[in-house]
Amino acid sequence: MVFDAEIDLPDEASTLKLGAAIAKFTGLVFLHGELGAGKTTLVRGYLQALGHRGPVKSPTYTLIEPYEIAGRRVLHLDIYRLGDPAELEYMGIRDDLREGNTLLVEWPERARGFLGQPDIEIDLEYADDGRRAHLSSAVPDTAKDLAKVMDCLPVQRR
Ligand code: ADP
Ligand code: MG
Repeated sequence: MVFDAEIDLPDEASTLKLGAAIAKFTGLVFLHGELGAGKTTLVRGYLQALGHRGPVKSPTYTLIEPYEIAGRRVLHLDIYRLGDPAELEYMGIRDDLREGNTLLVEWPERARGFLGQPDIEIDLEYADDGRRAHLSSAVPDTAKDLAKVMDCLPVQRR
């Protein structure tokens, strides 16, 4: 089973809600979308749902921001400025992936070969004043759980 759906996000609050809706999912999450599409906002919704209360800064220059929260390790990456995917090696990304931690990655296409297949892929795009999300998973267990979770959001299955 695969999951593949479109979700309308008319305002910032709905982007936060989508982030919160996937907060129970661990593993590798790809966040696609141009500048301002809402990738960092979605990460904020994800982290806040786990109980994070401080700001969520975009790791535009640091590339990575770690959070230890709700007994989990969640890494927020923005690799737009990544020069060479091998740099991720020094950051210990492979270890984190192996250990079952969560990586929320903005601009994953900058290191696609290095990161491997995502558990969840989200593509955000501008739609009128708001945004539209394309959410998918090709991992059977994740796809099944996503289908359940998304029942409470305004989702159009594809
Ligand atoms: P990115 O990380 O993709 O560059 P951000 O998450 O920083 O984008 O968001 C850029 C701006 O878009 C923020 O001001 C945010 O409040 C706004 N935003 C996020 N989601 C929506 C939405 N669904 N509708 C309208 N504005 C949104
Ligand atoms: Mg961002």
